[in-house]
Amino acid sequence: MKMLIRGSRVIDPSCGRDAFCDILIEDGVIAAVGERLPDADAEVLDAAGLVSAPGLVDIHTHVREPGFEAKETIATATTAAARGGVTSMLAMANVSPVTDTPEAVADFYARAAKTAKVRVYTAAAVSRGQRGEEPTDVDALLAAGAAALSDDGVPLMNAALMRRALIAMKPSGLPVLSHSEDGDLVRGGVMNEGALSRRLGYPGRPAVAEELLLVRDAMLARDVDGYVHICHVSTKGSVAYIRQAKAAGIRITAETCPQYFTLTEAEIERQGALAKVNPPLRTQADVDAILDGLRDGTLDCIVTDHAPHTAEEKSRALPEAPSGMVGLETSLALSLTVLHHRLGLPLSFVIDKMSTAPAKLLQLDAGTLRPGAPADLVLFDPQERWTVDPADFASKGRNTPFGGWELTGRVRTTIVDGEIVYTR
Ligand SMILES: [Zn+2]
Repeated sequence: MKMLIRGSRVIDPSCGRDAFCDILIEDGVIAAVGERLPDADAEVLDAAGLVSAPGLVDIHTHVREPGFEAKETIATATTAAARGGVTSMLAMANVSPVTDTPEAVADFYARAAKTAKVRVYTAAAVSRGQRGEEPTDVDALLAAGAAALSDDGVPLMNAALMRRALIAMKPSGLPVLSHSEDGDLVRGGVMNEGALSRRLGYPGRPAVAEELLLVRDAMLARDVDGYVHICHVSTKGSVAYIRQAKAAGIRITAETCPQYFTLTEAEIERQGALAKVNPPLRTQADVDAILDGLRDGTLDCIVTDHAPHTAEEKSRALPEAPSGMVGLETSLALSLTVLHHRLGLPLSFVIDKMSTAPAKLLQLDAGTLRPGAPADLVLFDPQERWTVDPADFASKGRNTPFGGWELTGRVRTTIVDGEIVYTR
């Protein structure tokens, strides 16, 4: 089984390639990348005008299965991923039951084997039931196939457990993923704390809550020579602290999401619960700092924190509505629109942040078009303009604040293991 992708602009940050050439796929792996490759007995995909890149790697998603199938399933989340150009994704452990045992990890992969459209990995919890009291068995979870360790969704307030997790993960070289928000400081808070929250009369989630926990985790990582990865960075102070920690030689990496470099807290007034997310949307100064952090490498990657909820849940009043927004079907287009088209950053910069860098971070066999690598690719038209219509999503979750946005750059074809899993 051979496929030749002909005539596209091939961008592969893993080897610095950015050139018009062909890609030959054979038996599910990249066989060759080069100019005018012979097409004998290969199925030819004419990709002139498109960009071909390693499929996107989204290391922060919530697929809601098992336990919350009304919000999303592995089947619908991975179909949404395919539409968004994502070929590898990490599902967080806050499902029901929580992914905190080797049996739960095995159950996840058994489910995924039946229904997943793209590669989906699961994280395992740091603490039993994500209650922050008893540790999980890290070695057993990794042996069962857990691709990361995180209590994401719930702040891990127990520093002793975080320290223990950092130590337990050291032999693997993998990070502990930290949902950095101080649970006491954000309790009951529904939006960023500041002038706007006071005017609207809503309890806030202060920026210092995020910064406190990330500084704690950076200190713990330094103390045990462990590796911590900070999830969904949203504040100016966080970017500054991470920059300092990196400069001090601490093993720390960090991610942000499109919502944190495109939206401010003002969206709460316009869209209510659709703009409710943890950590919350912040101010323009924070947005500017996030962009600076991406540019100078303080923030290593862009993820979605894809968090589907039902329409009924999101129609509740702001304090009662659950937090989170979907992102798999808009993340590439938002990043291209803002980072490439508006700010002039190279396409390879966007691909690195969304594919090569996150793959490397979790040691996944992805993020590259090197011969021998799995043939996981995204083909997109960087110039196509389109309007986000949540009714058109494959995700069960329609909870996006980007409905009606005009974006530039659209996925055309997604390939996993040499098979087309999405095309339009
Ligand atoms: Zn989180």
